[in-house]
Amino acid sequence: MPIIKDAVCSLCGCLCDDISVTVEDNKITGVRNACILGHSKTVGVQTHDRIKTPMIRKDGELVEVTYEEAIDTAARILANSRRTLSYGWCSTSCEAISKAIQLAEETGSVIDSTANVCHGPSALATQEKGNPGATLGEIKNRSDLIIFWGCNPIHAHPRHMTRYSSFSRGFFTPNGRKDRKMVVIDVRKTDTAKRADKYIEIEQGSDLLLVTALRSAINGHETAIPKNVAGVSKTEILELAELMKNSSFVSILFGMGITQSRSKYKNGDAVSSLISDLTQHTKAIMMGMRGHYNVSGFGEVATWETGYPMAIDFSKGYPYYNPGETGANDVLVREEVDAAIVGAADPGAHFPQKAVRHLARIPLIQIDPYPNPTTELADVVIPAAVVGIEAEGTAYRMDAIPIRMKKLIDTRFKTDEEILKDLIAKVRELKRGE
Ligand code: SF4
Repeated sequence: MPIIKDAVCSLCGCLCDDISVTVEDNKITGVRNACILGHSKTVGVQTHDRIKTPMIRKDGELVEVTYEEAIDTAARILANSRRTLSYGWCSTSCEAISKAIQLAEETGSVIDSTANVCHGPSALATQEKGNPGATLGEIKNRSDLIIFWGCNPIHAHPRHMTRYSSFSRGFFTPNGRKDRKMVVIDVRKTDTAKRADKYIEIEQGSDLLLVTALRSAINGHETAIPKNVAGVSKTEILELAELMKNSSFVSILFGMGITQSRSKYKNGDAVSSLISDLTQHTKAIMMGMRGHYNVSGFGEVATWETGYPMAIDFSKGYPYYNPGETGANDVLVREEVDAAIVGAADPGAHFPQKAVRHLARIPLIQIDPYPNPTTELADVVIPAAVVGIEAEGTAYRMDAIPIRMKKLIDTRFKTDEEILKDLIAKVRELKRGE
């Protein structure tokens, strides 16, 4: 039986690259090493509901058309739009992301990624204070104190703890879990917290207070700390600060509990300062637990092509960036865009009601392998191959390491990159008046 070794799971930001996939007659018949999520995604290309053909909405109904007709209609929408929103692009390859940015530039669009509603504030914190990071390999080999803050990897990144952090055996941590301490800081006792040496429950939205108190403790200003901060006793805060200072390599791995709670990017900013304080005593790093498998890739590609990681507005003829003004939700809620193209994302399910209402009013193009609530709003629906399974490409892991994804089976669907290339060519044709 043909087995493809070292395949990459294109689901979460761990991008596990040790997956074995059995393929018979162009069908995936076995998947080894993947977690339940990765297994479901890999075999799901054959079992999950797919968008079967390109479609255009006529008289309120989506009707089947050819790729050429769908691309022609989509290109006309983009060419006639005064200002388009291009959104998503985090569950596709860097090659496709590059084309999406090119299309946005060609059409004077605002382009934004799903990061804006998850780890976007981390990008802002990084710009303000820097990114004291590490690779997952360094965490695995060196880290003897893992702090998960506002994240639940057992559910969101199921192999993270066994492959890269808490339970993995590394060069300086040969006994795995026995060589590490694990702390979880969260607002509720998650399944990850149940496996920690220490669980610290904080009051919702008070992360900034706790980070600030920890900084005071680490910098020797204990007297400035009240008896209780963010629902955590002073004793616990001082104990955690001592544990951090006395560890050899501290890894603070944070999720949306930090980035999307009150104080937003100031939380990441404060964690970065905490790392800086800790480095007076020991080695310490921070890392965002990135969700979509290539959300890091969008930030990388966008930054090297435009100078900015998300929320980029090309309507002035050059890249302009001001999150809060040029983010996807900002321009939708203010009704500033008159068309939208969404790739590998589902704003119909995840955006606030006011943004979705505007999305439903304007011409909307969707490029995706799978139907989702956004399909119900779309005027043009273009099916795509599943990258990492039906198409090869590059993606960036949560630690910003590029990983090459293999193609495992053939497909009749075009790739995101091919669709975007066709769209760029058609838009240029229309602009030239051909
Ligand atoms: Fe896939 Fe993430 Fe599971 Fe690894 S941890 S197999 S990348 S879903």
